[in-house]
Amino acid sequence: MEILNETIENISGLLKNKEISSVELVNASLKRIDETQNLNILHEVCRESAVEKAKEVDELRAKGAELSPLAGVPVVIKDNISMVGTYTTCSSKFLENYKSPYNATVVDKLQNAGAIIVGKANMDEFAMGSSSETCAFGVVHNPRNPEYVPGGSSGGSASTVAGNQCFASLGTDTGGSIRQPSSFCGVVGLKPTYGLVSRYGVVAFASSLDQVGPITKSVKDSALMLDVISGYDANEFTSAKHEPENYYENSFKNSIKGLKIGFAKEFVELLKNQEVLNSFMNAIDFFKANGAEIVDIKLPHIKDALAVYYVLSSAEAASNLARFDGIKYGVPTDEFKDLVDFYVQSRTKGFGKEVKRRIMLGNFVLSSGYFDAYYNKAKAVQNLIINEFSDAFKNCDVIISPTTPSPAFKIGEKVSNPLEMYLNDIYTVPVNIATLPAISLPCGVASNGLPLGLQIIGNRFSESKLFNLGDYFEKNCFNLREV
Ligand code: GLN
Repeated sequence: MEILNETIENISGLLKNKEISSVELVNASLKRIDETQNLNILHEVCRESAVEKAKEVDELRAKGAELSPLAGVPVVIKDNISMVGTYTTCSSKFLENYKSPYNATVVDKLQNAGAIIVGKANMDEFAMGSSSETCAFGVVHNPRNPEYVPGGSSGGSASTVAGNQCFASLGTDTGGSIRQPSSFCGVVGLKPTYGLVSRYGVVAFASSLDQVGPITKSVKDSALMLDVISGYDANEFTSAKHEPENYYENSFKNSIKGLKIGFAKEFVELLKNQEVLNSFMNAIDFFKANGAEIVDIKLPHIKDALAVYYVLSSAEAASNLARFDGIKYGVPTDEFKDLVDFYVQSRTKGFGKEVKRRIMLGNFVLSSGYFDAYYNKAKAVQNLIINEFSDAFKNCDVIISPTTPSPAFKIGEKVSNPLEMYLNDIYTVPVNIATLPAISLPCGVASNGLPLGLQIIGNRFSESKLFNLGDYFEKNCFNLREV
């Protein structure tokens, strides 16, 4: 048995029965990380602390302590999540030497459950990108084929799970950054309902859209992770006061009979890739054949979601990134005329091209002459999209779409055309704009050998429906780990 290929569900059984120790697991994970260094997945490896923590968990287990299923399991977090003792670079030169003085709430939660954080994953700079090519410390390679991108911005987080360096990871999703790389790498990615998982200690990109979520090898593992990381956090003012649900115990019914699945023709009209269309239609046929009802729904403004997203997310990014002035941290600047010149030099040297593009776009749409025409208009269209989704959910339990309009593309293929790159997110951004949860799971393999993803979207706080349908699909229709 290739131990690193196992799910957390299986591994936690082996740990519990003492058939394997956490130290053995962590060592296997560290060995695999060394062997796959060429993929540039991790920015930092927490070697000593991981082994130390693993020993502690093994000791607790030996004493007969009742432990979480995550206890002793190696996991990775994205490099925009703060963890004491590690760098939090956001894959930017600006934060190259920045060490977090405190833990993000999700890190505390993982560590309290006994999970072993073995590394910090590379990403697109400040989470802006769809290919992990805007990372200041080199491109991340897709472990299924290193010539291809792993998607982004959580490309490192998806690759570390797909490449069997660890069992699960955390990513962040502002417009698709958990789901799109999960689709490109053939793993399961969940973007939870906005507010369900605390953003405290996570470097902000677009605060009204950002959400932390798990990337795993199976749907059930996604539920296990969500049980640990979700919950109200008084430190975070957008945190939702939602009662804990115990997703792992309560979501899985092993049946989809009578489930109403929404299908919007607008999603398919946007699609040009025949392989993506075929795998999506196969999924629909499977759901029908297994007792679900496919309901036609209308989402006429979905086609405008991308424009709305790039106006709103860039406006928020321009504001969030204004704090990076080079005074407390940044790229050293010795010669400067005055304070403004210092700021200009720091920001010119510290930020990459894509981040600068977003800051300029954001400041433009926020400037007094254009505020109504762009920012306010985008806010108005956001409301239309929110209302369309809530009308749709009056007639269905979940909505399905492909996760991405194409499988992973080659490294370098889209770097010179930002618009082409942005189009990757047409299916994922509407979900963030409407603050909804959605999961991506593998649903086929394209002729280039790379996986395709199915997206299941739910109403606010209906993660358990996504888990049930996703798990049923994974067990009875398509499981990439068994292909
Ligand atoms: N690819 C999108 C962007 O570049 C989404 C990024 C994200 O979700 N962090 O903005």
